[in-house]
Amino acid sequence: MESLPTTNQGWIDLGSQYLLRQPIRTAPLVPVRGEGLYMWDAEGKRYIDFQSGQLCVALGHSHPEYVQAVRDQAGQIMQTGTAFIAPSEVLLAKKIAEVSPDPLQKSFFACTGSESNEMAMRLIRKYTGRFEFIALMRGYHGQTAGSWSITGRGGMLRDGYGPVPTGTAFIPPPYSYRCQYCKDDGCCNLGCADAAEYVIDTATSGKPAAIFFEPLLSAAGQIVPSEAWMQRIAEICKARDILMVADEALTCFGRTGKWFAFEHFGIVPDIVTCSKGLGGAVPLCAVLTSAEIADGAVEKGFQPFSSHAGDPLLCAAGLANLEIIDRDNLVENARVVGGYMMGKLKRMQDTYEIVGEVRGLGLCLGLEMVTDKQSRNPNFQGIAMVTQYCYENGLWLQTPVPVTDINDPLQQKFMEISGLQTLRFMPPITVTTEQVDEAMEILEAGIKIAEEKTAQAAAVVG
Ligand code: PMP
Repeated sequence: MESLPTTNQGWIDLGSQYLLRQPIRTAPLVPVRGEGLYMWDAEGKRYIDFQSGQLCVALGHSHPEYVQAVRDQAGQIMQTGTAFIAPSEVLLAKKIAEVSPDPLQKSFFACTGSESNEMAMRLIRKYTGRFEFIALMRGYHGQTAGSWSITGRGGMLRDGYGPVPTGTAFIPPPYSYRCQYCKDDGCCNLGCADAAEYVIDTATSGKPAAIFFEPLLSAAGQIVPSEAWMQRIAEICKARDILMVADEALTCFGRTGKWFAFEHFGIVPDIVTCSKGLGGAVPLCAVLTSAEIADGAVEKGFQPFSSHAGDPLLCAAGLANLEIIDRDNLVENARVVGGYMMGKLKRMQDTYEIVGEVRGLGLCLGLEMVTDKQSRNPNFQGIAMVTQYCYENGLWLQTPVPVTDINDPLQQKFMEISGLQTLRFMPPITVTTEQVDEAMEILEAGIKIAEEKTAQAAAVVG
């Protein structure tokens, strides 16, 4: 019998023969086992997983009760399809309604984050009879045609793929650290929200159907809007009858210290799309809305269906995930332990020249790395050094991408727009303060090294 690889590299080499992948995005470790915050690679080395898988495993890897719920459901019935109602589907929708503010009440389930946004776009078109959308520059909503068309990213996400479906107008993000409108700190006059209104009134029919936004722009670098910005956008939308759609793919169900991130800003969106943090590990997404919108769309002939919509197995997993989060007060844990971690990160911001800004909510935190606080130039080499150091020392943040051609200013710009100068910290929401200490110690040691090397490089240039 052919022997299987026993090393990470062995699996990566075998995979390169059969898998369609981008090598530069392939992690150097091959996880084969996980337990809580930790995962182990093919060679038995342990890592602290500060990315919760792909920001999905809210309870940590293979939480025993979650695994048991999946096993139990798998032993009963796993797949039924769109025509059938599954008990776990009903109970999950009910649970979501219980933790959501009114009037959010009805859910449709499918699999991925992209699909949830795609489905929300179809629902909105049917309900409103309109088709234009507003979205945020730098925002990310997925890879399928519709969700891609509302994604405000250029460069590698667009280059070579032909025309993007039309109908979306983009507004500037509320990115205070790199604001295009007020260059100095502390002078925010909501210029970006005024610009948003101007875009809506000049680049659309004046009555777009909906705005899609991440309440915390995560992939863009954990950008947290101000409450004033959110309120102003809500006003602009209300005046024009524009529906608000919060994409809570990775902020949903406790991660930010509230059940939903939008709750930090005093608004209730018309529609919420949820994915990663909902299923806990299985591919599950939801489009959540009011009975008025859901029933109104159905009356107009909206038909949501998909092969795995509301599958018993997926919904049983999602239900176990939410019940454990609720029972174990993990929303509060995210708030408290997130606050503790933020305190540690803030101290690093005060101590190190290359830590430009730390920001985030709950356990959805980020650290923007710069060459120096004055210039705020993105420090991609620093990111590469820190991620490599953390990986070697057992803290998993992201694939350490070697920085090559970074003297090309255009490439730098695309990297900056993609938020690649920001490290994201999103451990399972079960994480403890002791575990945060363990991770932050490794991170700080990596930052110290990057700080010294950045200073040396500046001295050579200078
Ligand atoms: N929306 C947001 C805010 C996301 O972060 C992501 C994934 N990173 C998606 C949508 C797309 O989700 P998926 O990859 O599951 O299609």
